Amino acid sequence: MQEVMSEKHQIIIIGAGLTGLLLAQKLSNTGKDCIILEKSKGFGGRIATRRINEKGLDHGAAYFPLNNNFLKILSELSLPVIETDRGLYINGGMVQVAKKLASNLKVCKEQKVISLTHSLEKWVVGTEDGSIFECTKLVLTAPVPQALELLSQSNLHPESSHPIHSVKYTKALIFLVVLKNAPEELRLKDSNDYQAIFMNQRDLHPHGVIIQMSPDFSENFFEETDAAIISQIQLNLEKNGLSFDQIEKYELKKWRYSLPLSTYGAPFLELSPNLFLSGDGFAHPLECAQALEQIL
Ligand SMILES: Cc1cc2nc3c(=O)[nH]c(=O)nc-3n(C[C@H](O)[C@H](O)[C@H](O)COP(=O)(O)OP(=O)(O)OC[C@H]3O[C@@H](n4cnc5c(N)ncnc54)[C@H](O)[C@@H]3O)c2cc1C
Repeated sequence: MQEVMSEKHQIIIIGAGLTGLLLAQKLSNTGKDCIILEKSKGFGGRIATRRINEKGLDHGAAYFPLNNNFLKILSELSLPVIETDRGLYINGGMVQVAKKLASNLKVCKEQKVISLTHSLEKWVVGTEDGSIFECTKLVLTAPVPQALELLSQSNLHPESSHPIHSVKYTKALIFLVVLKNAPEELRLKDSNDYQAIFMNQRDLHPHGVIIQMSPDFSENFFEETDAAIISQIQLNLEKNGLSFDQIEKYELKKWRYSLPLSTYGAPFLELSPNLFLSGDGFAHPLECAQALEQIL
């Protein structure tokens, strides 16, 4: 069983996704005392590399959009970046970015934050296992709807007319496939309903293909049962040249918040004194980290 913790820090960041990690790295480089609280067992948030039969498949973001400032950061981390027409990807798996960024940071994993209280100029952060963390400055980087849920639980919910409520996300249904044979033999045609990403092209699972269903398809079928979703995907793939007989293993992954449909229009929001909301619902994670670093 994990030990219940009680700690005090200058700055607490909630979320070890790209925004939280880039920010923590910048703050740590300037000597600030900061920790990250992350609800999952791993780092990266929506950058995620799943292992099937000990080999990886990128089932979160599979590319980063071309961005020269971000490319510079990836190069400084000595990551094997491949520039393609679609964007930048990391040979060996996107999650390496998160692992590299987290390597010198204090990240408390499996700490789901469930309450935020302001008391005597301090923020008191409570987590699911009963741990308590105190700080003077608090940054929340979860996707906006999740951040609003936490704020609501803590009686800090912004009023319904606040522009933050307009930040919405697309859903994503991701079909992870391990083929019986090498993907070179596959005749999978493109479709408006999905994008197929071959893992052998990025030195991951040699027989792995990630089928990213489109935002429209994902929205239409997201609330159906897994069996119903898989049978819709099967119909779609068979129509386009992939028979289920060619598949050795598959898994369905659902992301309720995938990409922001629109952003807040500024890299962060100071909702209450020293309580900041940020993340990709505001701007590119690097832009968020750069802007927050200036004021924290
Ligand atoms: C399938 C898919 C495809 C994508 N494709 C692209 C793409 O092609 N190009 C692109 O630029 N972007 C893409 N994205 C989006 C990209 O992954 C995100 O923009 C980026 O990773 C967001 O980083 P973030 O740190 O802002 O948020 P997140 O990665 O969501 O990080 C937030 C973190 O907060 C944690 N958290 C949430 N609530 C709590 C809590 N209560 N307590 C503790 N921790 C909490 C979460 O576990 C998570 O780790 C894609 C995303 C998905 C899912």
